[in-house]
Amino acid sequence: EKHRQPPHIILIPFPAQGHIIPFLDFSHHLALQNLSLTIVVTPSNLPLLSPLLSKSPSIQTLSLPFPSSPHLPPGVENSKDLPPSSFGLFIHALSNLYSPLLSWIRSQTDRPVSAIVSDFFLGWTQPLAKEVGIPRFAFSSSGVLGTAVLHSLLRRLPQRLDSTDDSYPISFPEIPGSPVYFWRQLTFLYRSYMEGDPVSEAVRQSFLWNFESSGFVSNTFKALDRVYLEKPLEDLGFRKIWAVGPLTPIDGGISRGGVMSVSASEVMLWLDRFDEGSVVYISFGSQAVLPPMQATVLAAALEKSGLHFVWAMRDSTTLPEGFEERIANVKRGMIIKGWAPQVAILSHHAVGWFLTHCGWNSVLEALTAGVVMLTWPMAADQFVNARFLVEVAGVAVPAWEGSSEVPREDELANIMKEAVTLKGTEVRNRAKEMGRKVAEAVSEGGSSYQELEGFVQEFLKLEVNV
Ligand code: UDP
Repeated sequence: EKHRQPPHIILIPFPAQGHIIPFLDFSHHLALQNLSLTIVVTPSNLPLLSPLLSKSPSIQTLSLPFPSSPHLPPGVENSKDLPPSSFGLFIHALSNLYSPLLSWIRSQTDRPVSAIVSDFFLGWTQPLAKEVGIPRFAFSSSGVLGTAVLHSLLRRLPQRLDSTDDSYPISFPEIPGSPVYFWRQLTFLYRSYMEGDPVSEAVRQSFLWNFESSGFVSNTFKALDRVYLEKPLEDLGFRKIWAVGPLTPIDGGISRGGVMSVSASEVMLWLDRFDEGSVVYISFGSQAVLPPMQATVLAAALEKSGLHFVWAMRDSTTLPEGFEERIANVKRGMIIKGWAPQVAILSHHAVGWFLTHCGWNSVLEALTAGVVMLTWPMAADQFVNARFLVEVAGVAVPAWEGSSEVPREDELANIMKEAVTLKGTEVRNRAKEMGRKVAEAVSEGGSSYQELEGFVQEFLKLEVNV
């Protein structure tokens, strides 16, 4: 006799902090539904799943050895440990999980796999899904514009995009409402593409397979990305986008994805003495290490500006002599080396400003908290995000840009100080308004809540009879 069992879904995150954090949050949401879930990782990324697995013990894990690659540093299984120049190789190496995954899926005769949800950096899972006759959904940890710009440029290749002129303008006619970018602001895989090079071609092809997937799940929300969602990028070729964000942190909102190097309560206590909206939080995310010249100028600009700040930085950041002692003496700033409780910091009432590299997770966390962003994009989709936030959404003020260009100390001090004295003006109001819209979107009946329900329905349609 036949009996019904819940659909079995395979979840495959991409091992970079900024990707895996929202992917696990999303998996947590799926685990609350009547679905049977298996999440795929490589051994050294397994510990990253602990918070999820302790909340959702029904999720099974499949740990597959990281495919060996002679050109990658041995033992590296997470992009945070990679030199940026190896990123393409890393993406490519992961595609060698195709065969072990295929065998595993075929072995699941008791619990046949109904669908794959995988990061949009793992486009090769689309032909895999096709081979076994099941749908695959792409998960994007980026905004819709960032995702669209990336795919548009990859689709234009092998036409050489390269230009010696960094201010060469590039427009996106198939993305209605997109700003025109300068070549220097488009800093991703398409920059290192070499026609005929097997790794370049494979990486490009992998992204193009995303167009063939059954749709995108995107960590964004309608009130923010409406302009790109209403006509879901049909001209570019996306089938369907579910805007389910901002995905909320598994642990309820202190930090995401790392072992904290300072307790949230210590930082909260430190912040408590400041007036509402008067403190600047500074972080460039989990990947970027500020080069010493940039760190020196930023430190000096902070001293000069007189602003109060919390600066979270990666361990290896070099600070100028005496800086830490000076700011500690006058209780002007707090420095966190290592992993900071970012979500908690952004939601403290004293924090009104966020000097950020504009990684999409940081962007969403700032919007949720109604904090104004001071943008300093450095790599990947960050330039696209920054232009979007300043020019389209109107919730941010430009501060600086680039991963190596060094601002003048007084100029940067002025930019930050002026921004902060915009208090009460339009940008601040819009940022606060956006915070309210986030709360609306994710609450019961809100747009993201509904989209998530709609997405789960796609699986329930795939009900399995064994
Ligand atoms: N994060 C954190 N503490 C840190 C640094 C980062 O909690 O000290 C979190 C941050 O809240 C965000 C993520 O790590 O959720 C960083 O992702 P984002 O997309 O902003 O940037 P990326 O690290 O991918 O460049």
